Amino acid sequence: MRKAVFFDLDNTLYSYDNADDAAQKAVDEFCARQFGLPAEFTERRLHEIMELLIEEMGWRQAATHDRLIRFSRFLQDIGQPVFPYAGMMYDIYWDTLIQNMTPEKGVYRFLGELEGRGYYVACATNMLSRIQYRKVQKLGMGSLLEDLITSAEVCTEKPDPEFFGFCVKKAGFKPEECVYIGDNYRLDVLGSREAGLLGILYQTPELAARHEGAGPGEAVIRDYSELEENLRLIESGYETFFVNKT
Ligand SMILES: [Mg+2]
Repeated sequence: MRKAVFFDLDNTLYSYDNADDAAQKAVDEFCARQFGLPAEFTERRLHEIMELLIEEMGWRQAATHDRLIRFSRFLQDIGQPVFPYAGMMYDIYWDTLIQNMTPEKGVYRFLGELEGRGYYVACATNMLSRIQYRKVQKLGMGSLLEDLITSAEVCTEKPDPEFFGFCVKKAGFKPEECVYIGDNYRLDVLGSREAGLLGILYQTPELAARHEGAGPGEAVIRDYSELEENLRLIESGYETFFVNKT
């Protein structure tokens, strides 16, 4: 019997891709207006800086996601003052992203159903805590979640099995009693499985168009509204998912 269900946040409880596109566009427009930079340059340079920070800090650091650090580096790079622009870019990015979040279809009912059936339900995510807290609050999901665990709290990131081990231990369960649901096959599914949880991929057709899918015969939730099917999946064993694998 499973006792706990952990969810990823971005692209799992709400549509991150669309919201991030809108937020990036708002930052591009700000940089075009303020510094005369083409959008292609801004996006490419910010991406390069993200990769550089991961290289410098190591991938296990939640601070690799810190937009304030990324924007500060970007501004230094283009010879512009960090104050006040880094803070302005930070607010533009996150305010736009939060305004553009759309909850995944059927997610509130699914979370409520799990809670009603006695499961411990929490969110466990790679990111800094304050921004994830803001997102959960804006989505109105706070009352449906027992906890919000971020990689900043754990001091390591998915897919490190220690991340999942921390969540399981903090909630007071054994790994085999826990399920992890997330949209990223490598980080969420393979990572949680390595720690002994039941890893389930969340993948709508929209997500499938942009992201890696699961192998044949593996556990996938495509629609939270398919309540009975999803609950069966949560209670099923590992053998279900490796039927077609040798
Ligand atoms: Mg995600």
